[in-house]
Amino acid sequence: MYVVAITGGIGSGKTTVANQFAALGIEVVDADLIAREVVAPGTPALAAITSHFGPEILTEQGLLDRRVLRERIFSDQAAKSWLNALLHPIIRSEMLRQCAAVSSPYCLLVVPLLVENRLTELADRVLVMADRVLVIDVDEATQIERTCHRDGVSREQAQAILASQASRSERLAMADDVLDNQSGTTETIRARILALHETYLAFASQQAPQV
Ligand code: ADP
Repeated sequence: MYVVAITGGIGSGKTTVANQFAALGIEVVDADLIAREVVAPGTPALAAITSHFGPEILTEQGLLDRRVLRERIFSDQAAKSWLNALLHPIIRSEMLRQCAAVSSPYCLLVVPLLVENRLTELADRVLVMADRVLVIDVDEATQIERTCHRDGVSREQAQAILASQASRSERLAMADDVLDNQSGTTETIRARILALHETYLAFASQQAPQV
């Protein structure tokens, strides 16, 4: 399967752009969704996390309490490494499984924090899986404006989230392709997406085994 990984900061337009590829018939695999699914109630990973950190890691409803988990690993490098060693192989194999099950000519793998995770094993694994990295690019003022508008958060809150993510230049340094999701009209942007889609269709057909 030819895999295009798509990434970008908050409010850059990953979801919007992924939906446009989906409208062109391309199946989308969402790494964030997978990261949540693998620790859903009843999963072996949640059982392992609960026995490692104790039942206080669960909410009253038996869900993983991400806030508590974040606090527990924040200042504990060993706990963080343990968690990554547990989850990354599971997330990776589920991403591979879902990408392999795709029946469209190529697969779009949405990885919101690909760049932030670039120093971790997971990012290497994603990159090995991805044939191409597409970065959705807008300037920071646009990211803030669109995030505030979408989420109803203050400028300060949006700025704080941006500051916790990779910078625009760090992201662009990882790109094979860049989609400008800012300049021009909706139509211009749609045409850019269509051009990328044609390119990926061509790459995917070159890679397909000859019969
Ligand atoms: P992400 O998934 O990267 O956080 P979204 O796709 O949710 O970003 O887009 C953030 C917000 O910006 C949404 O409200 C979306 O409708 C809007 N948006 C996305 N692309 C554009 C665009 N080209 N022009 C104007 N608004 C846009």
